[in-house]
Amino acid sequence: MSKGLNILFCTSEVTPYSKTGGLADVSNSLPQELNAAGHAVRIITPKYGPIDERRLRIYEIKRLTNIEVPVGNKIAICNIKSSFIVSPKGKVQVFLIENSEYFNKESPYIEAKTGKDYSNNDERFIFFNRAIMQVLGLLGWQPDVIHCNDWQTGLIPAYIKTIYAKDSLLQNVKSVFTIHNIAFQGLFPHESFLKSGLPENIWNDDGVEYYNKFSFLKSALIYSDAITTVSENYANEIATTHEYGMGFEGILKKRRKDLYGILNGVDYSVWNPERDSTTPFRYTSKELPLKRENKKALCKKFGLEFNAEIPVIGIISRLSDQKGFDIIQQIMPQLMKEDVYFILLGSGDKTYQKFFESVKKKNPKKVGLHFGFSEELAHLIEAGSDMYLMPSKYEPCGLNQMYSLKYGTIPIVRATGGLADTISEYKNGTGNGFVFDKYDSGELMKAVKRALKLYKNREEWIKLIRIAMSYDYSWEVSARKYVDLYRSIMKKA
Ligand code: ADP
Repeated sequence: MSKGLNILFCTSEVTPYSKTGGLADVSNSLPQELNAAGHAVRIITPKYGPIDERRLRIYEIKRLTNIEVPVGNKIAICNIKSSFIVSPKGKVQVFLIENSEYFNKESPYIEAKTGKDYSNNDERFIFFNRAIMQVLGLLGWQPDVIHCNDWQTGLIPAYIKTIYAKDSLLQNVKSVFTIHNIAFQGLFPHESFLKSGLPENIWNDDGVEYYNKFSFLKSALIYSDAITTVSENYANEIATTHEYGMGFEGILKKRRKDLYGILNGVDYSVWNPERDSTTPFRYTSKELPLKRENKKALCKKFGLEFNAEIPVIGIISRLSDQKGFDIIQQIMPQLMKEDVYFILLGSGDKTYQKFFESVKKKNPKKVGLHFGFSEELAHLIEAGSDMYLMPSKYEPCGLNQMYSLKYGTIPIVRATGGLADTISEYKNGTGNGFVFDKYDSGELMKAVKRALKLYKNREEWIKLIRIAMSYDYSWEVSARKYVDLYRSIMKKA
């Protein structure tokens, strides 16, 4: 057997310490899978304000306090705390970077009140990246690979190849950068670049400058040894079209041979109707009446009258244009004429909140809403809904469609990114959901109608549920692909 690798996994969110979206789930489950496969993985992440240190068992490491981190012409101080993600798969150490000026905030990136980015996000994440570089030598542990995720960690590959290049610890270290969403590009003015401490000679088109701006994402795309993204289809989309590449398609085309699409997996110890500790009833595909009991509980929770004949369409999502809310908005009047319940758990864009509130006002018996973030409700919606709506404009991978399959909650999706890689139209006993191609409300409504029609055919619907529940998107296969990739870049000079 070949020797296990040392992997430092850098991420700006990871459950159970922080979460705004899929990155947090992936940052929890991929390291666990790699660890279980015999590799030594450590996660490093900011310690944001609202973390309950006692409940999460976060402890100080005495020798890792008062570490100096240059940010512009200031010296910021960081402390490293330690915690462990413990599961039947094993134990993964998490280093949490503490700095009250930068991270003692209620949410990772945006001000809850205004919904706007924090004005010092440049400094906050320069600090995060630079702190990781500064603590590397103090951990007493040498990574073979530093795995970075999204723009918030995008300066690390550039630091490795520039100001830390002579560091003896980093001589053989390789970096991998995963794009979880290319829309988030970490764009800041030139003055932010000056605060990063990166050398002036990389402020150009071949370096970190992106149309006169400083881009953390570009830094990662230029300087990392390999780039991955979270589905094969999204890898093709972002490297070939401006629509999906969002300005970075040229760079990705140049690095096409270093760009890999590796599908995210699901942690079935968390998202599994058989073992879900948060839902009222646990069930397998042979115990579907218990799914119906969850539907009852779900309806009750949202003040809707349970009716087995009427399907519940569920959504758990960031309320953003990316997730297809403009076309959902357009079909709402038509959808409300159908015999359906519509349940939404979401946070984000206030204009969508107002819109759905107005729909609920007109249809109080058909619509259930909860605005905010709730893991518990997310699980109940997966377990109790009949269908799951995900008509994204673009979708790097998407997790909820895969969670939905496991819960026998049939996905209705647009064929884009990871949705196209995981969901196919149900026809003649094959396929696992309902799919439409063109980003268009008419096409979405047609797909919903196909689902509503099949729902009336109880026997066929149950057959579809059983097929959906049999899909296995566990991490094992994808984790192996990451390991193959780590090993292949380690062979390169
Ligand atoms: P993205 O990362 O683009 O938001 P994904 O489908 O990859 O989308 O992952 C979203 C994750 O965030 C899922 O685990 C989903 O259940 C969760 N989520 C999104 N919104 C909420 C919310 N309001 N409450 C609880 N969980 C949410």
